[in-house]
Amino acid sequence: PDGDGLSWNKAPCRFCGTGCHVQVGVEDGRVVAIAGDKAADVNKGLLCVKGYHVGGILYGKDRLTKPLLRKDGKLTEIEWDEAIEIVAKRIYDSPETFAIYGSGQWTIPEGYAAQKFMKGGLGNNHIDPNARLCMASAVTGFLGTYGVDEPAGCYDDLDECDVVITWGNNPAEMHPVLFSRVTDRRSRGENVRLIDIGTRRTRTTDAANVYLEMKPHGDVPIALGIMHLLIENGNYDRSFVEQHCNFRAHPESGKSLFGEAISEDEFRKRIAKYTPEHVEELSGISVDDLRMLADLFANPDIRITSLWCMGMNQHTMGTAVNTLVHGVHLLSGHFGKPGDAPTSLTGQPSACGTVREVGTLAHALPGGRIVAKPEHRKQSEEFWNVREGSVNAVPGYHTVKMFDQFTKPTSDGGDITTMFVQVTNPGQTLPNLNKLFNDKEPLDDKFLIVSEVYPTATTELADLILPAAMWVEKNGVYGNSERRTQQWFKMVDPPGEARDDTWMTIAIAHKLFEMGYEGMKDKDGEFIFAVKDDAGKEIPIWNFDNYYDTNVDKHLFEEYRQFTTMKHKNLAPYDEYVKARGLRWPVVEQEDGSWRETRFRFSGFDDPFVAEGEEFDFYHSSSKDGRAQIWFHEYEPPPEIPDDEYPMWLCTGRVLEHWHTGTMTRRLEPLNRAMPTGYVEMHMEDARAANIRQGEVVIVESRRGSCELPVWIDGRGRPPRGSIFVPFFDETKLINDVTLDEHCPISKQPDYKKCAARVVKK
Ligand code: SF4
Repeated sequence: PDGDGLSWNKAPCRFCGTGCHVQVGVEDGRVVAIAGDKAADVNKGLLCVKGYHVGGILYGKDRLTKPLLRKDGKLTEIEWDEAIEIVAKRIYDSPETFAIYGSGQWTIPEGYAAQKFMKGGLGNNHIDPNARLCMASAVTGFLGTYGVDEPAGCYDDLDECDVVITWGNNPAEMHPVLFSRVTDRRSRGENVRLIDIGTRRTRTTDAANVYLEMKPHGDVPIALGIMHLLIENGNYDRSFVEQHCNFRAHPESGKSLFGEAISEDEFRKRIAKYTPEHVEELSGISVDDLRMLADLFANPDIRITSLWCMGMNQHTMGTAVNTLVHGVHLLSGHFGKPGDAPTSLTGQPSACGTVREVGTLAHALPGGRIVAKPEHRKQSEEFWNVREGSVNAVPGYHTVKMFDQFTKPTSDGGDITTMFVQVTNPGQTLPNLNKLFNDKEPLDDKFLIVSEVYPTATTELADLILPAAMWVEKNGVYGNSERRTQQWFKMVDPPGEARDDTWMTIAIAHKLFEMGYEGMKDKDGEFIFAVKDDAGKEIPIWNFDNYYDTNVDKHLFEEYRQFTTMKHKNLAPYDEYVKARGLRWPVVEQEDGSWRETRFRFSGFDDPFVAEGEEFDFYHSSSKDGRAQIWFHEYEPPPEIPDDEYPMWLCTGRVLEHWHTGTMTRRLEPLNRAMPTGYVEMHMEDARAANIRQGEVVIVESRRGSCELPVWIDGRGRPPRGSIFVPFFDETKLINDVTLDEHCPISKQPDYKKCAARVVKK
């Protein structure tokens, strides 16, 4: 309870896509306590170890508090006015060679402001978020299947299902509070079977009834094999398929997001070769285990939830495997009833909210629109009140391409010269860092601007560093993995001169407006981010002293909300989110004036947009007939396979204690003590054969680079012989020097889960 100067307020946790709510205790202008929020449906008062320590992330000793400009190789403090002018001038001089690299940790207003600035203001689509590295394949997977992005189900499925299948996914560590729904039900005596399909044993395996170890890339043939058996045995859900599904494949001319229709007979013909024996060969899963999986899906009396995250998304067949797992659920009819759902999880707290819904990807516009469609551009221009033709029809560069263009000399066609990085750390997370990031160093004409809270691997190469406010130092809105939009208010002041990212975007935009840049004026000649008081007078929010005279977040959110109705991603007014612990979209107004959220999309019993009397309705179907698409994809081998020179599979990922690159969590002593260093997991037999001891520091190397790490044998994760695993949280051990930048041809998401490497004794 409040008292003695301590006040409590709600906020979503700053870390993972689960989206737990915390109660934040503030005293004397400082966050002093964190509690799980018992009123929140997502976590019902529970938090994981990161969540309990989230308040401490504000108080690391080395917070950035002043803008810093690199002069003669040295970082020098400058004033904000000068910093904003430097950025604005670079953009003014060459708007088309400017790029923004953002984040699934952007708040919705931050992402929306950056999006509007670039696409509506500069007519430049070179804006892409780090979520490209994280869930782009889930986006293209949902688009390919439903014609619209984001999962149909929600977390409630985990309360209702009989079986959970984790596809290359470790929710016990990555989404621990969500995973606890399953373990909690079991501890109450409920029978929930957990089948873990993975390439290494993890904490999720420890809780599983069955562990199926597949070869890297094995998920594709497993999904194909299940569908093959359902068809061969005649026990797929014929009625569901006949009423609600079509079959689809890529045309012969090449791969495309929506492909072309094929008949059911053609689908049967193509899938016929994925016999259990062939699938065993490709995936390593035995014939009996594949039959067990197919029999589960053939059983209409149980409810099955599939979960996946990076394992299926960071994959050169990422779009393919996403649509194939949807296909398994559709073909078997395990869809659309509570507990029956194919559900992708997101890593970041607002990968769904800010990246997918706001559309901060290089090809997208807010609310599920795309730059390539004239009617979508026109509608966006109308909402933004900017001149017709302001939005560029050509998609911008996706992340890998954007950094490739930035680190390539201008004389070689490297046409991105100024890059503004907000709320992310590409100097640690990009794949193949020596090519995509470190190569920038010798290039004088390239200029890197980084908005950050702490020094990072990215700020090391920055030309200009802008100190940022974080989490409850600013107002915010996030959107979690289950379509839940969550709002919070600023509770404490940021340190020194650290400022909101939204403010930075608006201040730069206003400087350009002052310089006469036409794109920063709307059709009436007014500033595109103008906010007015009740008397109609513009509030100078580009001066930080005035920024909080009005709730800019609310203003931007309400503007953005107009975009959300076309694809039935309807949001409620901002004030509804102030009252709630998040609401899952689509949210629609009821006759009594209240706002109702949606748990199960496309299902007639819950989704307000399903046509009257229909049990299911895929109302954004790419085939325009209300049906979902069941895809066929031919298996393709991984882009790099171990050989004599590099004989090990390398997989990378995360750990429970650290948030992504560890920038925040490594400054929290309890978490840092619990997991103090990066490491390489090795199988005992591989270590013995190479005469490597527990804890010994070895070199992990590939054709692209190397990294020194201590060995952990039989640790928390246990890879099989011939495989190693390295987490990426440790900035002193950059495993992304070793990974490769091959990516899914449709989603453009790189494959961090498999490349060829070797382990060498020092
Ligand atoms: Fe935060 Fe995720 Fe842990 Fe929940 S599960 S407390 S959102 S890190």
